Amino acid sequence: MFQIWGVSRHLLIAIAVAALYFVVSSLTVMLNIGIGGANLVWIPAGIAVAAVLLHGNRMTLPVFLAASAIHYMIHAGSLPQAQLVLLAVITAAGTALQPYLLSFWLKRQKLDAPIQSFTQCLRFVLTISVGSVVSASIGSLMQITQDVLASEDVGVTWLTWWVGDLSGILTVVPLLLAFRHSKSHQRSWSMLSLSITGIGCAFTLTSAFIVKHLDHISQAREFHSSSSVIGEVMQRALDLSLSDLRSVQMALYDIEISNAEFQEMSIDVLSHNPVLRSVSWAPRLTPSQLLLDWGNATNDDNTPRRPFDLDNEGNPVPLAEATEYFPLRFIAPETESRAAIGLNLLSTPKRREALERARQLGRPQASEAFQLIEGSMAIGVYWPVYRNEFRHQHKERTTLDLRGFVGATIEISRLADQTLKPFIANHRGLWLLDMTRPAQPQVLFQNGSHRVAIDANLATSLSRLRKGLHFERQFDFGGRTLLLVIRPDQTNGSLQAQGQFWGIIIIGLSGTLLMALYLFGRQRSEEELRARDTRLLAQNAVLASLNKEELSDRTPLDEKLRQLIKTTAETLDVERCSIWLLDSDKQTLVCRQLYTTSRQRYETGLSISAQDCPQYFASLVDGRGFAADRAQTDPRTVELRDSYLIPHNITAILDVPIRSEGDIIGVLCNEHIGPPRVWLADEQTFASSIGDLSSLAFETESRRNAEQALREANQLLEKRIEERTEDLRVANERLRQLDQLKSMFIASMSHELRTPLNSIIGFSGVILQGMSGPLQPKQEEQLRRVYNSARHLLALITDVIDISKIEAGYVEVYFEPVELQALVEETLGQVQAMREEKHLGLECRIDPLTLTTDRKRLTQCLLNLLSNAVKYSEQGTLRINSRIEEGHLLLEVADEGIGISATQMEKLFQPFERIDSHLRIKTPGTGLGLYLTRKICTDLLQGDIFVRSQVGQGSVFTLRIPITPQCAIKHDGVEA
Ligand code: ADP
Repeated sequence: MFQIWGVSRHLLIAIAVAALYFVVSSLTVMLNIGIGGANLVWIPAGIAVAAVLLHGNRMTLPVFLAASAIHYMIHAGSLPQAQLVLLAVITAAGTALQPYLLSFWLKRQKLDAPIQSFTQCLRFVLTISVGSVVSASIGSLMQITQDVLASEDVGVTWLTWWVGDLSGILTVVPLLLAFRHSKSHQRSWSMLSLSITGIGCAFTLTSAFIVKHLDHISQAREFHSSSSVIGEVMQRALDLSLSDLRSVQMALYDIEISNAEFQEMSIDVLSHNPVLRSVSWAPRLTPSQLLLDWGNATNDDNTPRRPFDLDNEGNPVPLAEATEYFPLRFIAPETESRAAIGLNLLSTPKRREALERARQLGRPQASEAFQLIEGSMAIGVYWPVYRNEFRHQHKERTTLDLRGFVGATIEISRLADQTLKPFIANHRGLWLLDMTRPAQPQVLFQNGSHRVAIDANLATSLSRLRKGLHFERQFDFGGRTLLLVIRPDQTNGSLQAQGQFWGIIIIGLSGTLLMALYLFGRQRSEEELRARDTRLLAQNAVLASLNKEELSDRTPLDEKLRQLIKTTAETLDVERCSIWLLDSDKQTLVCRQLYTTSRQRYETGLSISAQDCPQYFASLVDGRGFAADRAQTDPRTVELRDSYLIPHNITAILDVPIRSEGDIIGVLCNEHIGPPRVWLADEQTFASSIGDLSSLAFETESRRNAEQALREANQLLEKRIEERTEDLRVANERLRQLDQLKSMFIASMSHELRTPLNSIIGFSGVILQGMSGPLQPKQEEQLRRVYNSARHLLALITDVIDISKIEAGYVEVYFEPVELQALVEETLGQVQAMREEKHLGLECRIDPLTLTTDRKRLTQCLLNLLSNAVKYSEQGTLRINSRIEEGHLLLEVADEGIGISATQMEKLFQPFERIDSHLRIKTPGTGLGLYLTRKICTDLLQGDIFVRSQVGQGSVFTLRIPITPQCAIKHDGVEA
């Protein structure tokens, strides 16, 4: 089914192509714009090529058939049937061969696809120009061999044919291809420019040839008008010759005239008609009259003159027996033609034939051209003379009435001289033919025979002569049909037309060329833009993907570098892409990674030293990178030429620096092999970006190394700190244990120390009081010292033990409601004796207050302060105040004693510190009282102690303790 449809589809297309070819051809033939035998624009040629390009070689068949029909039609009637068919078939074969070859060549050069460049466009036009000669050549050849075309017209016909085919193909095919590819292909631009170029060429050629055609028409018109003048002149010359002959004939019809009279009359005629070679009179003589008439005739030398016949060779022979003779009696001019006198006109067949016709018709008749005795060609015209012609005008003329013939010899060369020669100067081809017998035309005169040879086959030559532009005129002269054929010698056209022709060709073709260049230039720039966009897109995509990978990548450095150079090589389409690193002293470049695209392999380890290539290193260290389009001659890379560039066939290099923290550490090197390459701006930018990514990769690597080192150092430090902390904790624990041991030791020692001391104090006191008997003064003094020292020691031990207990956390605090006034009075009582001893006054202003505190410890503190106030005062009054502030009791003990200087204030509250004064020696003290007081105040009573003092003015010590302390306070786990 499909096959049937396929076959019938092809059949339909074939029929459509044949019909289109035939119709367009017929229309073009009807328009008939052409020179020679061809048309100036032959659109069918384009249709044929288009059909074969679109539907394959099978389309040559319909083209062949349609072309056969067209050529048959054009030449029908001008050739015999067999010749006509031959001409049509072979010409059509040429017409069909042409599109076959053209489509083959176009397809082979891939010119049936969108044209990409100006060179391709030029090749397209050239291919069609060359291919178009096929049909023109075969067609012209056929026409000339079949005698349809004159040989001198073959050039112009061929040219017109070729131009016609070329114009037709250039008009149709590019349009077809543009249309065909406009849908399937995005780049219809190129085909559009091709069709514009094609139409431009076709239009130019056609216009030029139309100019030529118009010029040709005007030339032909001019040729015809001048040729008809020639014809007219010849007609006149012939008419004049007849009328001159008539005047001689009229003089002779009835009277006998002498030779002298004849000569006189004839000279007059001959003198004004140069066409006539001679005029003669040949009377009709019977044999008897011949004797009478010629009996006395003599020549100039008095020899008797006899009439004669001419034999077949033209030699005079004695008269043959006959019933009548027409010997030439008079001839003028006599001197030149004397030899002809006596010639019997009937003896030469050509003359006799003319004479017989003249006698029958009674009108002047011309003979066939004959050879004059001198050698030139001539025509004889003979006019019969009848006796008393005017009297019996309408009577039938009889032989008896015929007196003879007046004859005139028209010499062809003279006729030509007079009528044709003036025009021969114009380089025309002129032929004068005797066409009386059409089958055997006779050439009377020809000029320009080098162009159309009049040969043995005169009829063929004649038909060839009559092809193409020519003029012909027929003359009826004395019963003979003469034909004048004139052909223009050249059809080069006028100078102005030539100028216009070449002007159009040059302007049109150069305009088309410029237009094509412009269009292709635009196309190219558009394509370059498009290519750049594509490249930029690809480069951006690559950069984006590399960046992404870079961010998420934990891959090793070398793998990352391999990925970078491979991607770069593929994106920039270079053979080799590599990363080189400078060594520490920047004197050697070592290849870290090199990728070779064609082998898809990585290499490492090459090196280049600065000693060998100082200029190259200088360019690198310069830090801006460079693009060497011609690396083998570029001053920056020429040093690498023999050792590196030539062995690897590298022609272009694009280097970008790799940096780390601003320093050049290496180079990203792109190496192109093959023909020189121009590195485009976008490629350089892309390479720079890759250089930056490489730099980033190196920086990331070094940062990662640094981070790793830091991390390890931190871990080490942490471990050490942990170790040290543990050591400290152990040491602290040990110290705490030791401290506790010490305090325990002291606490436990206190009892052991105090018991014997109390015994010493008690017994020495008893002894001093004299209870054990009177003492010697010396004994008493020494014993008192023992007593005092023991008391001092007891106080010291008591304080030390108290402090130790507090510090060791062994003191238990017992909070209870305490009457402040009672407590103060009780304590004052303890120092009363000492105060009174020193005569110190007392002011006590205590608000009634019950507070919760440790009675024993508060008493201890107050006692300490009061005893100090007494001890370090020599006069004045003791003042004791109390007030309440923010839930705290402020208890002030003020004296007017020696006071404390600001510098010594720092030593206050320090253990074993006693401040220098004149009272220090005579006042007993341990230097622990204030220290202990503060310890009790802060550590046990949750309070504080302050002092303000002036030297010589006195001191104020203030206890600050909470009225209600926080109940649950732990001292080393012991609840207070
Ligand atoms: P001491 O047993 O020597 O009195 P303290 O610790 O009680 O030890 O006092 C320390 C020192 O502070 C005393 O030696 C004394 O010089 C000075 N001092 C204490 N109270 C007063 C005061 N009310 N006036 C002047 N100096 C004082």
